[in-house]
Amino acid sequence: MKPAPFTYHRPVELDAALDLLGRLRDAGQHAKVLAGGQSLLPMLSMRLAEPAHVVDINALAGLDGVDVDAAGVRVGALVRHRGLERHAGAGAVLPLLRQALRQVAHPTIRNRGTSVGSLCHADPAAELPAVLALLGGAVVARSRRGERRIQAPDFFLGPLESALEPDELAVATQFHRPPPGTGTAFVEVARRHGDYAVCGVAAAVTVDEAGRVRAARAAYVSAGEGIGALDLGAAVAGAGVDVAAWADAGELARGLVATESDIHASAQYRSQLVAVLTARALQDAAAQAGLDSTSHASALDPAQGAR
Ligand SMILES: Cc1cc2nc3c(=O)[nH]c(=O)nc-3n(C[C@H](O)[C@H](O)[C@H](O)COP(=O)(O)OP(=O)(O)OC[C@H]3O[C@@H](n4cnc5c(N)ncnc54)[C@H](O)[C@@H]3O)c2cc1C
Repeated sequence: MKPAPFTYHRPVELDAALDLLGRLRDAGQHAKVLAGGQSLLPMLSMRLAEPAHVVDINALAGLDGVDVDAAGVRVGALVRHRGLERHAGAGAVLPLLRQALRQVAHPTIRNRGTSVGSLCHADPAAELPAVLALLGGAVVARSRRGERRIQAPDFFLGPLESALEPDELAVATQFHRPPPGTGTAFVEVARRHGDYAVCGVAAAVTVDEAGRVRAARAAYVSAGEGIGALDLGAAVAGAGVDVAAWADAGELARGLVATESDIHASAQYRSQLVAVLTARALQDAAAQAGLDSTSHASALDPAQGAR
């Protein structure tokens, strides 16, 4: 199929883009922002979206920077997945970004698709929304009315639905740096590398100086319709290296994540993946934080399933 007819705009200044989006909204005209086009163009071609106007932001200057500071990593709206994946400073501060981005589609798609665009698309099957939900942070939205920061828990309203207003442009996103002693991990199961995940888990474990778990959280990809993070600390808080609590955390997650069936997997199979992958991701995250619980690997063996 071909897209329905639309008017194409390519502003070269941010103020002009914001003014255009504002005017289109005032006129009741449906407009879509075009960034990397890796999700929007298929939706236009399949006529799942039929905007009257497409506002291409690729000519705007100043939106392609990655800034690393004490607070975390700020990513501009025109930073491609591949650029963020290869950014040494971002990778050093937030290895989870690189771990997750390597699971996003194929390099050709990562060369074009933007990380902020992935957040705006708000797909529960995408990796980066889970990363933002897990780490915390905000999307920075701008319009003629000014700038606002939309915190991660308020940003994802539902599948393919974000809190952005029709006249708002997401100019950047901020991923928070986790507290000291935190390790992170990302694991997923996909039928082929580069496919959307059947199920994926981003996890963070914070360990104190005595080697006890202080916090454990996880966020999910393709598990259900929601985008958000779970606090799994109840299953593992206070545990040390001699406690195989990760599988218990996996079971806790199994009970909390409302999985869905689709053509790729049943809800029951996804629930099993939630339990097993949660345990594995938490263990990997704990190892990155310096907690060696490898002696409990058998409890996490997918062949045996989570206990
Ligand atoms: C074959 C294929 C496989 C893929 N596999 C995966 C995968 O495994 N995992 C994954 O996470 N993704 C996958 N993707 C999607 C890819 O990651 C996209 O790049 C991403 O979802 C959207 O980024 P984009 O820059 O291309 O956004 P676009 O397609 O340009 O836009 C997507 C949506 O976000 C809005 N938008 C974009 N940027 C802004 C902004 N700055 N302000 C306001 N609104 C904005 C658009 O209006 C549109 O509604 C795949 C895509 C393809 C084609």
